[in-house]
Parts: sequence; structure tokens; C-alpha cells
Amino acid sequence: MTKTRRMIAEQIRHVDAVCEILDARIPVSSRNPDVDELTAGKPRLVVLNRVDQADPEGTRAWAAYFRARGYAVLESDAKGGAGTGKFAAAVRELLADKLRAYAEKGQVGRVVRVMILGIPNVGKSTFINKVAGRKTAKTEDRPGVTRSKQWVPIDRGLELLDTPGILWPKFEDQSVGLNLAFTGAVKDDILDVETLGCHLTAYLGERYPGALESAYKLSALPEREAEENDVAWGYRLLEAAGRRRGFLISGGEVDTERMAKILLDEFRAGKLGRFTLELPS
Ligand code: GDP
Repeated sequence: MTKTRRMIAEQIRHVDAVCEILDARIPVSSRNPDVDELTAGKPRLVVLNRVDQADPEGTRAWAAYFRARGYAVLESDAKGGAGTGKFAAAVRELLADKLRAYAEKGQVGRVVRVMILGIPNVGKSTFINKVAGRKTAKTEDRPGVTRSKQWVPIDRGLELLDTPGILWPKFEDQSVGLNLAFTGAVKDDILDVETLGCHLTAYLGERYPGALESAYKLSALPEREAEENDVAWGYRLLEAAGRRRGFLISGGEVDTERMAKILLDEFRAGKLGRFTLELPS
């Protein structure tokens, strides 16, 4: 982090704006709070990426939240390309006053530069490739793979600095770690898979019960008991799902660990539906 911080501090004066790429499903958990301090004073564009995987209502709420705080907001599905075509226009709108001032001074051809920041795996490389119209997708499906510092031309008069862009998320409370693990942004080893699965079923059971019912063909979810904590209730949900799938071990017990692995895989592959895992409070 120290190295990245230093690079950001060095480069920040060469850019006109900062573009923060967030995961639309977990906009707070996927955000490094140090960005505020590191980029102080620069106009900011928030890209809510992975909107194809997020609950559209949640995305609307987050877009309004960030706009109300003075950010320009772009909703994007970097993989499919939706929204990425509006990037240049969003930057020009964000910097309208500055561009007008340049024009008044006769500096019409002046290049606008934008720094891209985001935690690993949020979709930075994919987003940059799409907005730059690059054909060779230089991405790999593993965290942290973004290449050395470079300016990427977007269109006339607009360039991106695609690194230093890699910030690490901040594990300020347990829910941040859980959200990053659910989405696969960090490895599963913060918790055992079964406990992670319990937390996820508890969240989905609370917010999106219909999605669990239809994915695991449950006519109704086991009811949550008063005072029952997330892990205990989530465990019963995993059991119910696992039983329906026939994941039994000796003695008729459900193989909840296997069910948890499958649930996480299906969640990450989008097979359970589109979810937003945290909402503006
Ligand atoms: P980086 O580490 O931030 O540069 O992330 P990448 O650009 O390498 O993306 C990580 C993985 O997420 C790749 O498999 C991408 O195809 C995928 N991805 C990126 N953006 C999106 C998106 O908006 N929607 C979906 N479904 N997948 C995405």
C-alpha cells in the first residue's frame, strides 16, 4: 500500500480527475477510504461496475447516493460493454468548467488526463480496454493483474492513467471482509467456506428469500427464530438447500460444506440472480 500511495501522490498532480471503479454490488466494501485523502480536491467520477450482477434497485440507490455527494456517476458492465461508451462524455461533463476555461485561454487541444483507481478484480483492465476500444483484452481472471504504468488514449484529448491503480480494500469491519469474500474479490481463506456460505445464505434469506427458494426449489425457507444469529440461521438454510440437492453424507446428514462451496460458486457465476449486498444507510 505504501508504494501505491507514493505513486498516487506523485501522479495526482498530472491528472485532471480521478475515476474510482467500484463493484456495484458492494460499493462501500470495494472502496478504499484512503482515496479521499490521496486525491483531495480532484473532481471524481465513480464507476459502478458489474451492474449486470447487481440488483438494479440497489444500483439506482447507490447512483443517487454518490451523486448527492458531488460525484459524477457512471453505471457500467465492463464485460458486456454497457455504459462504457458514456465514459468520455461523463468526464467532459465532470470537467466542463475546466474545459471552458481552457477554451477561453485558447488551449483547445489540451489533453485531459484521468487516473483510474480500484481494488483488485473490480474490473479495471476490462473497463479500460472497453473505453479505449482495445481489442486485445489484457485481463486475467485473478486479482491484482494490471500491468505497469501507462497512459491510454481514449479519444481526442482524453487519456487514462491505468496505474497506479491498485488499492487494497480496507477490512474495517467484518461485513467488509465477508462482502469481498462473497464476490470473490479476496480469497475464501478469511473464513472457512462453510461459515462464509452460512453468512451468504443468511443475507440472501433476509433480503432475497425468493431467489434462494427458486434456486434450491424450496417451497418456503425455514423460518428464522427469534435471537437466531446469521450463522445459525444460514446453516439451516444451507441444510435445506443441500437436502434438496441430495448432498447427503452417512447417517442422512447434509454435506453443508459441499453445499456452501456450490452456493458460493453459483452466486459468483450469477446463477442465483442479481444482488446488491449493501445499501446506503
Ligand atoms: P482488475 O483486476 O480490476 O483489472 O479486474 P479485471 O478487469 O481483470 O476483471 C476481473 C474479472 O471480472 C474478469 O474475468 C472480467 O471479465 C470480469 N469483469 C470485469 N468487469 C465486469 C462486469 O462489469 N461484469 C461482469 N459480469 N464481469 C466483469
